[in-house]
Amino acid sequence: MKTLGLTFFPTQFSGEAAQYELGMHRLPQMIGDAWRPEWIQLPGTDAAVNARRIADTRPDFVLLHAHRLQVPDALALANALGELCPEVPLLQCGWTAHPPYVDAVIAATGPLESPVFGLACGEVEAVLPAVLERVASGAAFLELEGLPGLALRDAREQGWRGSARYEYIHDLDALPDVSLEHIPKAWKESKAGWLELARGCRFRCSFCYGSAFEHPELRRFGPERISAGVLRAAEQGVSVLGLLSSSNSFDVELLRSLVGAFRSQGIRNMAVAGPVHARYVRGEVLDLLGALDWRLMTIGLQTTNHDAQRLIRRGDDPEALAETVERIKAFITPEIEIVLGLPGDSPEGFKSTVRFLLSLPVNITVHTLRLDPWSSFLMEREKLGISADFVKGARVLGHPSFSAEQMEECRTFLRELGAGPWSYRAGQLALDGEHLNAKQKRRAN
Ligand code: SF4
Repeated sequence: MKTLGLTFFPTQFSGEAAQYELGMHRLPQMIGDAWRPEWIQLPGTDAAVNARRIADTRPDFVLLHAHRLQVPDALALANALGELCPEVPLLQCGWTAHPPYVDAVIAATGPLESPVFGLACGEVEAVLPAVLERVASGAAFLELEGLPGLALRDAREQGWRGSARYEYIHDLDALPDVSLEHIPKAWKESKAGWLELARGCRFRCSFCYGSAFEHPELRRFGPERISAGVLRAAEQGVSVLGLLSSSNSFDVELLRSLVGAFRSQGIRNMAVAGPVHARYVRGEVLDLLGALDWRLMTIGLQTTNHDAQRLIRRGDDPEALAETVERIKAFITPEIEIVLGLPGDSPEGFKSTVRFLLSLPVNITVHTLRLDPWSSFLMEREKLGISADFVKGARVLGHPSFSAEQMEECRTFLRELGAGPWSYRAGQLALDGEHLNAKQKRRAN
């Protein structure tokens, strides 16, 4: 029997909860009898230490999950492992497994020398089983070329082989239902849980990896799977259930399944957290959302600037958003996300977006623009004149309509706003994870 190393960097969760969060939890049931899974949580970011940790488990094949900020560490690990055991292939998975994105990181960090490095592009459950079957039947690394969703690094040419298309599972209910058999024990300690409701997205925002979907659609799990997941989480004592879906509002059937699961099983002591699209929150959707106990609801506005809205392919109407938050404030103060540094936006446009939100019963979260793997902005960055730091998660440094100095000026504007007297209707103000008005007394809405 061969050993498959299932590897990930430290996360804020540990053990099985981390596996669930990273979407790797179903793999042990999908890899066939020829393989034995070996979970390897890496101790830190030191490539030599991590490589030794992996080598000690004597794997025949390694799958490594990497978040955006971890890609430089993943590549350093690939090089270290390539030296230590050059016969063991390493496949990077997760949404960062995108050849143009990895190429940009390589250009910023140095060459990738490993002779056995590849990317599982798209949803890993759609890529890995065929790869392992081929390896088990004796295929050498470069003989895997041509398998769906696979990009193999050609160390000599410093390029990629394979189609590298974003592969995905079309029928989610065909995935093994691990919810009843493989319960993350760590949930009991953290009280945090996740429930995957759907994948895909109806939108194709230019800054998001959702640009990758060739056929924009929401693929959802069936009501029975959702019901079983809700019940499992409640039985495990989960206090906040993260709803994994691009939106929990633009598909009313999905929402009916979710709320039906809570109601039919009489679950009252479990809150939920997840994203919602403002434009759909009315009528039955509003009633269904209001039936849940929300701990955190995020709504993406991104910007109120028309030019920026056009470029990101999202045209959320600020007035409609204002009406929505007034409707939902009875059961939740939503967190509105906006982006600093969007192409087409300007310092004045950005400040005007912030001022608009200050007058609403919301919490404001500002993210500096990053170039997501698979996103249109990543692929068109030269045309748009965008420069980004690929060592630091592709954080955008500037572009013609928003210079680096102007972005810094806007950060100063936010910090001064947070430090000054707070008489706004909005509650919290946060920039890239830092609460700027934490010392202010939060205003009740
Ligand atoms: S930002 Fe949200 S709505 Fe836009 S494509 Fe991504 S997941 Fe979909």
